[in-house]
Amino acid sequence: MKTIKVLIVTIMCILLVSSPEIMAQTEKKPVSKGKTSHSETTKPKTSSQTVASDLKGAKEGIWGEWMKPVGKLEFYTLPYPYDALEPAIDKMTVEIHYERHHRGYFDKMQKAVSGTDAAEKNLLEIFSNMDKFPDAVRNNSGGFFNHALYWDNLTPKKQEPSRQMIELIEKSFGNYDSFVKKFDEAAANRFGSGWAWLAVDIKSGELFITSTANQDNPLMSIAERRGIPLLALDVWEHAYYLKYQNKRTDYINSFWSVVNWPVVEARYNQFKSIMEKVK
Ligand code: MN
Repeated sequence: MKTIKVLIVTIMCILLVSSPEIMAQTEKKPVSKGKTSHSETTKPKTSSQTVASDLKGAKEGIWGEWMKPVGKLEFYTLPYPYDALEPAIDKMTVEIHYERHHRGYFDKMQKAVSGTDAAEKNLLEIFSNMDKFPDAVRNNSGGFFNHALYWDNLTPKKQEPSRQMIELIEKSFGNYDSFVKKFDEAAANRFGSGWAWLAVDIKSGELFITSTANQDNPLMSIAERRGIPLLALDVWEHAYYLKYQNKRTDYINSFWSVVNWPVVEARYNQFKSIMEKVK
């Protein structure tokens, strides 16, 4: 009888130790080598974290991966299949946009920083001193970063803004409909190519809507109003032309059906840790 009890206890111990879930919980997280004191928002990835998660950014500390030197960054992994955003954004558009345009910015960014001081800087350092870098760095680092934000703030699963998010929106824009209208106008009125943004002002902490030309973003020191991006909408023709042709407004309207609100909110909850790095 005693032998059986010992055997059962031994088997239970083996099961506990070999359970991946328990292993993941007890696994020691790598210590960040960066000088940052915001460890809770800049935790490096652990082997137990999956990339293809709907809340990828929110779980990992969305800004963490942007603290690496640009020269050491890897190309962004799309968190869903190409057809996941149908019918709002069609499969072929996502595939070409990600595989050719986004990858192109990444490759050209690496080429532009290669062998220069910029390769040792992280994206936030580059954006904060944008006027000190050549146009090739500005266009391609912006292009790489903006698209990663864009893909991350889209989701195949319909999401609604939380009560906290609605309250924040109401505080800055009166009500949700006024916010959407203002954002839509920023996106529709951006002449030529560029982006529409919901961002947090780096001085006042207020939400605001803005648009930027080409691959600029509100983090850049050259931006009209500087802020931490929460929601990004690409209004370059390559983002919508195959499905919507010249009807940018239809694309903008469809965009709202695939916004990943939990990611937007996670970015808001972590913006304070970034503000100190972009002054
Ligand atoms: Mn694009």
